[in-house]
Amino acid sequence: MIGISKRKTKIVATIGPASRSAEKVAAIIAAGANVFRLNFSHGTHEEHSETLKTIREQAALAGVTVAILQDLCGPKVRITVIEGGETTLHDGSQIILRHGNKKEFSSSSELIVDAFDPAKVMRKGQKALLADGRVELHATKVETDRVICDIVSGGPLRGRSGIALPDSRLDLPCLTEKDLEDAIWGVKHEVDYIALSFVSSAADVNSLREHIAAQGAKIPIIAKIERSQALDNLTEIVGVANAVMVARGDLGLELPLERVPIAQKFIIDQANFVGTPVITATQMLQSMVSEVRPTRAEVSDVCTAVLDGTDAVMLSEETAIGKHPIEAVKYLHKILLNSEQEFQFEERSSKIKGSDRDSVADATCFAACGAASKIDSTAIVACTNSGYTARLVAKYRPRQVLFGATSEPKTLGRMALYWGVQPVLFSIKEDTMAESEIVSALTTIREKYGVKPGSRIVVTAGLRAKKSGTTNLMEIREVPRNT
Ligand code: PGA
Ligand code: MN
Repeated sequence: MIGISKRKTKIVATIGPASRSAEKVAAIIAAGANVFRLNFSHGTHEEHSETLKTIREQAALAGVTVAILQDLCGPKVRITVIEGGETTLHDGSQIILRHGNKKEFSSSSELIVDAFDPAKVMRKGQKALLADGRVELHATKVETDRVICDIVSGGPLRGRSGIALPDSRLDLPCLTEKDLEDAIWGVKHEVDYIALSFVSSAADVNSLREHIAAQGAKIPIIAKIERSQALDNLTEIVGVANAVMVARGDLGLELPLERVPIAQKFIIDQANFVGTPVITATQMLQSMVSEVRPTRAEVSDVCTAVLDGTDAVMLSEETAIGKHPIEAVKYLHKILLNSEQEFQFEERSSKIKGSDRDSVADATCFAACGAASKIDSTAIVACTNSGYTARLVAKYRPRQVLFGATSEPKTLGRMALYWGVQPVLFSIKEDTMAESEIVSALTTIREKYGVKPGSRIVVTAGLRAKKSGTTNLMEIREVPRNT
């Protein structure tokens, strides 16, 4: 028997050196992670293949569905390697910033970037931010091939640190050669999601989609919102992406930091309105990289993301390189469960009922949530091929348990990211959602999840649906008695 999760908000955990052993992965699954993120900004294909294999083996052993999220690094600009790994920059002294070859070392006297030429894009007075903004440089003199900067805020700096120029537009293409190659790896390994970094427009998402299609595959795409242009084009982006991420790390370098919380609410609102899943990411429990307990402010931040309406929250360094990866997932789980007690389920649903007025599927899923609330049904069962119906029901944030029932194994992982959806696999004889399929789905939740015979369930499905998007059935049924 599989336990029904009481938590609605999903957990995304980044797997890295601190968490990639079979034992750690098993413990992270047991602690409740739903999605495992492989960060392609670091590591080799061999390492990622190994990690992926471990996650799949451990999930199968535990009998749970988890999704694999491949995160492409995108045009993140980094300084080159520093001899000895890291150096320290001192406040008040000067440093040179220049273009150079990847193989040249950066040091405490000069920082080298290979992706663009600082002397061509920076002007006097402009800022450069490194190490997530902890290190701040101001350009005091721009020469032909170098920029002389004051170190306004120094400190330790690791080689290959990201560097952001919030005052200048770099206009680097979103999909790099490395991303294209990495995406081929993702297709080959049948990942559940591919995340695209530094998206500026819907066209960026479409070009990755075309690249994936050219490999003969169809993989849902997560657009990471971490550029100010992406905020300007947000409506289009949430319209074409399969999910979005509030990528607060880089967003906090692109925007004044104090605007990030409002941007988070704006992105979540837009995504919620159209039912596009949204992940809130970065520094959620940052202090747990070294400490065993999060700070009050971090706990409060996670709670805010839940009440804002996020579908999922993500751990990055906490689980990838932190000292307490398992404890971080456990804490997150507890904070989410507690925060959800204050979630305004009914209010949310009525707030977005004006969206997508012409869609029969949307209206059917809205009605399903209304009916479930009215009769306080034991659960809602969304029968779905692609996950679409489950996503639309989740859009209306039902308080009741929500099963995404599918006969398509590939859809299971996809649903692991959706708010509140418990993915269930059931078998069908034909490829239509007819009477026998509904009975099979209801029997499966009785057998696998122990839902009591006779309990009332709201069922949604696409009757005689040959393609996704044709949800047109909403019924109140009883779980069949044992036969
Ligand atoms: P990253 O993306 O961790 O790949 O940079 C998330 C973020 O920027 O917040
Ligand atoms: Mn980022």
